[in-house]
Amino acid sequence: MTSGSAARPGLRVLSVSAHPDDAEFGCAGTLARWIDEGATVTMCIVTDGSTGTQDRSLMGTNLSQVRREESQRAAEIIGAKEIVWLDYRDGYVEYSLDLRRDIARVFRRTRPHRYLVMDPTPTIDDTFVNHPDHRAVGQASLDVTLTAGTTPGHFPELLDEGLEPWRGLRELWIMGPGTKPVVSDISTTIDRKIEALMCHKSQVGDDADRIGQWIRERNAQLGRAHGYSFAESFQVIRQGPGFHAGQDVDEGDLALAEPPLDPASALVSRLEGSGPE
Ligand SMILES: [Zn+2]
Repeated sequence: MTSGSAARPGLRVLSVSAHPDDAEFGCAGTLARWIDEGATVTMCIVTDGSTGTQDRSLMGTNLSQVRREESQRAAEIIGAKEIVWLDYRDGYVEYSLDLRRDIARVFRRTRPHRYLVMDPTPTIDDTFVNHPDHRAVGQASLDVTLTAGTTPGHFPELLDEGLEPWRGLRELWIMGPGTKPVVSDISTTIDRKIEALMCHKSQVGDDADRIGQWIRERNAQLGRAHGYSFAESFQVIRQGPGFHAGQDVDEGDLALAEPPLDPASALVSRLEGSGPE
């Protein structure tokens, strides 16, 4: 299955990933293409990246500052509007209600039409074990669409912050690693994807050329069967309680995607509408 899903102007996209370079590996080509087509992208990064090194002299706050700067440069190359950092400690993320609420806060604030998340599966394509941070962040990101992001009674403190539930989601995209059933054409953005990935010097280091080549070959392989020069692959879900599925994004639909009315005020307007004869 292929997806040519274009991004119309006004389309809002939120990606949530565990580590500063995850989105560059998994979905940066697709994000860049949608941005070229007029979408606005927010990237949420859950951890501070502070333990992603074999060099002991770099561990801790030094590394998290370096990685923040690397991600900022990468986001500029992709064209993202904003990075939201949740600053969980790299490598120590556990699934928790705090994590679900923190992601829901970003989800409610950015009100995405497309939402890209990590895969929470424990093992990938019979080839490797998925990182525990990816699993926890992926699961919490998915759960937000059913509970904390879309339902007013979940974490009512978010209402106190002025963050209404968001029920205007149209598409949920679960990114790789691994091969997923929907491929997204990134032929026009593969170079930016690799350039963004190369911003993460603390990670690619002396191996930059080899990693860049490996990504190029991997994305070419994903595209080959579908006639694309380069592609990324995803699982895409378009229905569920929090979704307005199957609707294009135009002005009317954007209005439809406004947060639901407060039930109490809806009742008042119904009563006023059926006033005394
Ligand atoms: Zn990662």
